[in-house]
Amino acid sequence: DTGEPPEPLHRVQGNNYAPDNKNSDRINATLLSLVRNEEMKDLVQSMQDLERTWNHKFNYPWTFINDVPFTEEFKTEIQKHTKAECRFHTIPEEHWAVPSWINEELFVESANILKEQGVQYAHMKSYHQMCRWNSGLFYKHPALLDMQYYWRVEPKVHFFCDVDYDVFRYMRDHNKTYGFTVNLYDSPESLPTLWPETMKFLADNNHLLADNNAMKWLTDKERRPEHAHKTKGYSTCHFWSNFEIANLDFWRSPAYQAYFDHLDRAGGFFYERWGDAPVHSIALGLFEDARKIHWFKDIGYQHIPFFNCPNSPKCRGCVKGRFTDGEAWLNKEDCRPNWFKYIGNEWADTSP
Ligand code: GDP
Ligand code: MN
Repeated sequence: DTGEPPEPLHRVQGNNYAPDNKNSDRINATLLSLVRNEEMKDLVQSMQDLERTWNHKFNYPWTFINDVPFTEEFKTEIQKHTKAECRFHTIPEEHWAVPSWINEELFVESANILKEQGVQYAHMKSYHQMCRWNSGLFYKHPALLDMQYYWRVEPKVHFFCDVDYDVFRYMRDHNKTYGFTVNLYDSPESLPTLWPETMKFLADNNHLLADNNAMKWLTDKERRPEHAHKTKGYSTCHFWSNFEIANLDFWRSPAYQAYFDHLDRAGGFFYERWGDAPVHSIALGLFEDARKIHWFKDIGYQHIPFFNCPNSPKCRGCVKGRFTDGEAWLNKEDCRPNWFKYIGNEWADTSP
């Protein structure tokens, strides 16, 4: 794959993408958002951006998921911001519940230690539940069992660039598993035993390692040696999963299922604060061919405080070439240079 811009096939053709067209060119895919009733306004702002730059041309359905039922007010308001179908679902209780093998006292003690070390959200049990659900349970939601691709969207994010092709078709036609925009370092204090647990899993499952995997990106020690040191080998580089476009088959694979089950039993979603971003990224880096992971350079995106802002006339509202609008030291959180160094950059010779 050369990373050529998508062929005309993917571009809008007539009314093929009308919301109610049963024979549309849409493939089996959905925009997906885990969200709370209280976040309605912030979600509307994300929707407005994505509808304006992309989805009004393609009308992919939206799927909203919540651990408690959505209110009527939420459903009515949200549907006003798209012509596409909106689906609203609640998470089955057993998917959100803290697993039986997690010890409540140990969770509280661990949270105190994490908090002292400055780990964000350590004390919020719901945040741990959310990370676990996003890691290994979202794709088991009944509403997604027959779905092939999803594009994850959070409240309060921004999309800056007009994108004129069907990105889901692009994923399918180019045999991509996963697409990202931002690639970041993580807080090593949030995951001290994630890499050791991963190594234990690999010792028994070495056959699962993909040819052309991204191990070098996962284990770079040169740029921020203290990270790899604190984690016993993991650079902490990860795809920032508040944006992800992916093929659900990867998460449904026996390899990922076995890996998630191993991590879940180890307890680090609660005794540490393993995020779904490093968990997804490590799994992709080990079990998938790195050529199936795509940097969507052309999708201008921001989740505070970082962004992907292409230097293109199609983009408005972000500062081109900049990675953060926060303090300058935040620039060192950018892990894309490592990805390009070890894996390469499909876009090196093309502009979006
Ligand atoms: P951050 O991006 O790591 O600061 O975390 P967020 O607060 O943005 O949460 C990540 C995503 O999970 C967002 O889409 C939230 O709406 C969602 N989320 C987090 N906690 C909960 C929760 O307890 N219930 C529901 N329904 N959604 C949640
Ligand atoms: Mn967020």
